[in-house]
Order: sequence, then structure tokens, then C-alpha cells
Amino acid sequence: MTFDDGPDRINTPKILDILRDEQVVATFFVLGEKVERYPEVTQRIFQEGHLLANHSRTHADFAELSNEEILFLELEPTSAAVERLTGYYPRIMRPPYGSLRQDSVVFLRESGWQIVRWSLDTFDWDSTRNSPEEIIERVKTQHHNKAVVLMHCNGPATIQALPGIIKVLRGLGYEFVPVNQL
Ligand SMILES: [Zn+2]
Repeated sequence: MTFDDGPDRINTPKILDILRDEQVVATFFVLGEKVERYPEVTQRIFQEGHLLANHSRTHADFAELSNEEILFLELEPTSAAVERLTGYYPRIMRPPYGSLRQDSVVFLRESGWQIVRWSLDTFDWDSTRNSPEEIIERVKTQHHNKAVVLMHCNGPATIQALPGIIKVLRGLGYEFVPVNQL
């Protein structure tokens, strides 16, 4: 399970409460701007055993940026902010909107970055079709081995769907691991 676009003050703590109660470990692709705004929530993600990964500083479209801008303006400041708070420097990244040119893919890999996208989009970000029932149904029909499930630190649809998703996947025999253990 992966949660993008956090941390925030309201939704991320609720997601963390559910994950703690259900004993599920997840990956949070955080934004540098929000890491700086919500340091305690960032630290809580880390302390509760989840993996912190990099989702840029400003949620920019990386297809519009040079490779140097991606690295020096978006990725490095975000991981440095995480490291200041936790001691951990993320080297796993997911580009906002999944948008990344092929030359940037090569450049980032050569710079030591691991790019992680997703394989199951719950569409929890899409307010026209993200009722909790619709989100859970997508997981029921699209689950697969080593799935990287895309969700977001937004709510309330995500938060209402989350216990149901965990129940469905557990019932099917899946285990939950951070993306660096897939
Ligand atoms: Zn995002």
C-alpha cells in the first residue's frame, strides 16, 4: 500500500491510526513542502515503521523540468528534509502524475535513485468515482501478486475505504510490506 501527497495534519494521522490498529506497514511518498510544514507527522510515519519515499518537493510535473531541476530543486531538498527529521535519506522516488521523460529515468537511475510507480490505481484521488465502495471494488477485482496499490493522503473516501481494503486483501492471503521489500 502506498500513500502519496502527504503528510498533512488531518488525513495522514487518521491513515496512520488505521494502519497501526491493523498492524499494516505501508509506504508514504511525501512532498518536501509538506514534510517541512508537518514535521511531527513525518516523524510519526517513520517511528511507526513505515517507509518514507520521495514524491518531489512541490508536486511539479517532472516532464516540464530539466534533469538537474528534478534532482536539485525537487528530489534532493525533499530527501534532505526527511533526513533532518528522521536520519533516513530516501532514495526511492515516484514522479508526480507518474510523469517522467525516458532521459530522466536514465539520469535518475544513474544518480542512484529507484523509481517506483504503481500497479493498482484505486482512483481514490478522483472525486467523480471514489466512493469507498468503488475504491474497495477496484481492489477486489484488480488485486495481484506484488501489487503496488496507489492511494493518497486524502480523505474521507480513502480513510473510509482503508479498513475494507485491508480486510479484503488479508482475506485473500496477502501480506503488506513497504515497497523496498517487494
Ligand atoms: Zn501525487
